[in-house]
Amino acid sequence: MSHVFPRHTKASLPTAVAGYGCYLIDADGKRYFDGSGGAAVSCLGHSDADVIKAVQEQVGKLAFAHTGFLTSEPAEELADLLVANAPGDIDRVYFVSGGSEATEAAIKLARQYHLERGEPQRRHIIARKQSYHGNTLGALAAGGNEWRRTQFAPLLIGISHISPCYEYTGRGDGESSYDYGQRVANELEAEILRLGPDSVMAFMAEPVVGATSGAVPAVEGYFKRIREICDQYGVLLILDEVMCGMGRTGHLFACEADGVAPDILCVAKGLGAGYQPIGAMLCTRQIYEAIEHGSGFFQHGHTYIGHPVATAAGLAVVKAMLERGLVQRCAEMGEKLQAALEERFGQHPNVGDIRGRGLFRGVELVADRATKQPFDPALGLAGRIKKAAFQAGLICYPMAGTRDGRNGDHILLAPPFIITEEQITEVVDKLETAIAQCLPQG
Ligand code: PLP
Repeated sequence: MSHVFPRHTKASLPTAVAGYGCYLIDADGKRYFDGSGGAAVSCLGHSDADVIKAVQEQVGKLAFAHTGFLTSEPAEELADLLVANAPGDIDRVYFVSGGSEATEAAIKLARQYHLERGEPQRRHIIARKQSYHGNTLGALAAGGNEWRRTQFAPLLIGISHISPCYEYTGRGDGESSYDYGQRVANELEAEILRLGPDSVMAFMAEPVVGATSGAVPAVEGYFKRIREICDQYGVLLILDEVMCGMGRTGHLFACEADGVAPDILCVAKGLGAGYQPIGAMLCTRQIYEAIEHGSGFFQHGHTYIGHPVATAAGLAVVKAMLERGLVQRCAEMGEKLQAALEERFGQHPNVGDIRGRGLFRGVELVADRATKQPFDPALGLAGRIKKAAFQAGLICYPMAGTRDGRNGDHILLAPPFIITEEQITEVVDKLETAIAQCLPQG
């Protein structure tokens, strides 16, 4: 009997023993296409020789040094590479071990920034419904995903949630995409005014919403308006690119497509590509200087910040992405995946929307295309499709519809950037089989 504490205690799942390219192998030798790249983690695919070599070399040279040392060589090099390619005034990188640590650190940095500037009253965060920012208590409070939050309420920090930019169900009849985006962005201003303009420390959002909504980008102009509002009221803009960042959308940083730069940017998953647990919180020079010229100490930290082996893996991953043109490849293959999904499911009576950017695509299922009526969440459709796809040898990321019908069940696809055209067909074939098996009859 196993003594591992799994997440799903009632499920009997196979044990993964190996991975190569886009595939994972279980203990019985069965092969699975990694169509969700973990949760959008495996951007280079499995067993990448360059990353393995970088990890092996670093572990042999220096596996760990505590924070009595300022940084390590790979941490320095990776920070330089990230900053050189980051948008706007991003200037500093704080390395952590994963996504929740990155968003949690971002929340604390935003708070400390305002404290250092003599604005202790700025302690409120505004985020969006249908968002996910991580599972630790601060990050969970920021996320607007009710089923994850409910049983842990009351959560620890002052948060309010405005509408997401979710065009498929949110845009009104006769309303243009642009007007819709401005309308929902303006909810931020209304909320800041409601709370008191000098009480808000930050607004937090995913540029392309991942786990809760299935690869939903904002409409044109939305984030520009958000940036304007943040600037007007001295509110920091935190962009959570833990899932959508690191090349996944066809840009190294997802916000590049929206033409905005944040004050704080969080990345994780694709940064280590699964080879090491690593995340990072990047911030502007202005924020860094507020700490440097103030207390000189960011009141935060974990044992493994800037871990040499994790940063060496991250460095090898980002170099591989840039040197092999994989971000561009991700954009191109993403268009092909979108086209293949549209060809196969575009007329499907239960597929309401197919969307996303790069190799980050979502398929939303509805009971009725005309009314966009979701399936009854009690059917557990997305979960059943995940299971059927797994049986068929495809790993995909499902999300159940919300009980208030704000969004339906959807399937998220986030394959490695090395996916080929034949493999896109394999993914779409297997997904079609799984969906057909699970849809309610009649
Ligand atoms: N933020 C976003 C947007 C995520 O999708 C996730 C994980 O799915 C997290 C934060 C949390 O990351 P982690 O699971 O590495 O703690």
